[in-house]
Amino acid sequence: MAHEMVRLSEHVYYLPGSVNTTLIVGVEQAVIVDTGGDKDAGRRLKRACESLQVTPVAVINTHAHADHYGGNDFLVRNLGLPVYAPPFEASILENPYFEPVYLFNGAKPPTELLSKWLMAKPSPVAHILAPGRLELAGLELDIIDTSGHAHTHYAVGVGDVLIAADAVFGSVVLGRYPLPFGQDIGAQLGSTARVAEVGARVILPGHGEPTEDVQALVQANLDAFARAARVIETACTGVSTEAVLKVTADTLNLEMRDLPRYYLNLCVVGAYLSYLRETGRVDLTLAENQVRWTRA
Ligand SMILES: [Zn+2]
Repeated sequence: MAHEMVRLSEHVYYLPGSVNTTLIVGVEQAVIVDTGGDKDAGRRLKRACESLQVTPVAVINTHAHADHYGGNDFLVRNLGLPVYAPPFEASILENPYFEPVYLFNGAKPPTELLSKWLMAKPSPVAHILAPGRLELAGLELDIIDTSGHAHTHYAVGVGDVLIAADAVFGSVVLGRYPLPFGQDIGAQLGSTARVAEVGARVILPGHGEPTEDVQALVQANLDAFARAARVIETACTGVSTEAVLKVTADTLNLEMRDLPRYYLNLCVVGAYLSYLRETGRVDLTLAENQVRWTRA
């Protein structure tokens, strides 16, 4: 399954996959942005560096969802690469059990949530990223705060390319997942709009195809978020969070065939409910030992 490496600009190549991984290539050196879901993805990145005859010098993780950092362990152990990660997310890279634990309300999760999709191998974090300029491999990178999809999420700008990771989803992906993953919806809305303001020629989403039609893709993402918010708001008829998820999934034709999908969607619904409550669109009541959501 050797997919081709795709060149997006003088300095940026990406390896298409269920999660896109990226090489930022300077003079004889390269920086890897996100490492895919497992050691095979890590190995593929190592081979890509070999074929370009560049030495990888660092890994940047945009956020700590296991499908974006599963290749870290291979790259750290075999090449000794230092890992750069956003604050907060860095704690999860070092303690990957946090992801299945937070998805299960902080409790010990069922074993189904311990798959590599939700829990990768740990990797030490050498540097905590901050938004702004970062010099690596002799190149100036722009670290851009695009939090919301994850509690802390940074995109990487390289010249006229924006490696947006999950700050935006590709249009095909949006069609397939009408409830796009987000953990802080207010922040996600602002970050998605910010992607359009960066002025990049090309944006590369973490899932899906790169595009030069930045405005259209950003608008498609904002439309999907607005639709999800409307559906969830409508589902607030004095019922529990789980019942809101059930109505939302039925309305959006989401089929949740496994526990990881169920708990990921429950997390997203929780994020929307928090956002809708903050913006005065829904109310939460705790009575008779039950939390219920109603439209405001
Ligand atoms: Zn993600």
